[in-house]
Amino acid sequence: MNNHAEIILTKIQGLEKEINKLKGELKSVQQHCEHQFENTALFKTCIKCKYVEPLYY
Ligand SMILES: [Zn+2]
Repeated sequence: MNNHAEIILTKIQGLEKEINKLKGELKSVQQHCEHQFENTALFKTCIKCKYVEPLYY
């Protein structure tokens, strides 16, 4: 099973590609969202697109 590590690495690379693609899609959704924020103690989260904005005082 010398190829096992290689198979895993190939899978990881594929998943990383997929993650980057999804991150890009999410970013685009969040950029076009009319945010509706829900405040929590440390940050606020948009209830529509899950965009998180930290609250700094
Ligand atoms: Zn939003």
